[in-house]
Amino acid sequence: MNLANSSQLPYSFRQTCRPNFIWADIETVFLDMDGTLLDKYFDDYFWEQYVPENYAKKHNLTHSEAHQHLLGTYKSVENTLQWTDLDYWSERLGLDIAQLKKEISHLVNIHPDVVDFLAYMENLGKKVYMVTNAHPKALQVKMDRVNIANWFQRLICSQEVGAAKEQPTFWHKLHDLLPYDKETTLFADDTEKVLHSAAGYGIQHLIHVAKPSSRLDPKHSLSFPSILSFRELMF
Ligand SMILES: [Mg+2]
Repeated sequence: MNLANSSQLPYSFRQTCRPNFIWADIETVFLDMDGTLLDKYFDDYFWEQYVPENYAKKHNLTHSEAHQHLLGTYKSVENTLQWTDLDYWSERLGLDIAQLKKEISHLVNIHPDVVDFLAYMENLGKKVYMVTNAHPKALQVKMDRVNIANWFQRLICSQEVGAAKEQPTFWHKLHDLLPYDKETTLFADDTEKVLHSAAGYGIQHLIHVAKPSSRLDPKHSLSFPSILSFRELMF
């Protein structure tokens, strides 16, 4: 197959190519936090290991019983604002979730190249916002560990917006809160469902982050330009 002649490739295959925009066309940059700027290993370890361990102790279950029970519980609120609400989980599981996050906060880590990219955005004069589904308490735990908050015009949590990013209504509400031009906005996220929701609203430039966790193999998107590192956007 001749990759140079990309116009003849099937649509889904073509989309795995490099991002095809120029920075001169971008005014505003929205960046997701977990998995995009920060290593998602923290979150995976927290929900898949640390919470089940603590839940098992509290309810006198084996780790695998706790794990199985919790997976079903997590699934029941997937893609909603409740999923991200630490207070909801504290009450539902009978555990102090914010405190548990603090206990393992040494695992919070920033992806390579992120700080260089943020500095690059500042040099180009872009307005950069963090747009995260994380609960304000979770955001605080992370920002206490990694010193990146000052690079952003503002950190926006879904709680403040009133919907999760996966929900199409999120983008309408965000626009009310923070007027932006969807034609000149670039948004990067590691969750394809979120990118599809942003595409539905009409955000023009969408980037998928293919390696959210340092411990897992990359998974490229077939629907959006997909990067392994923000270094690939420094052009
Ligand atoms: Mg994410």
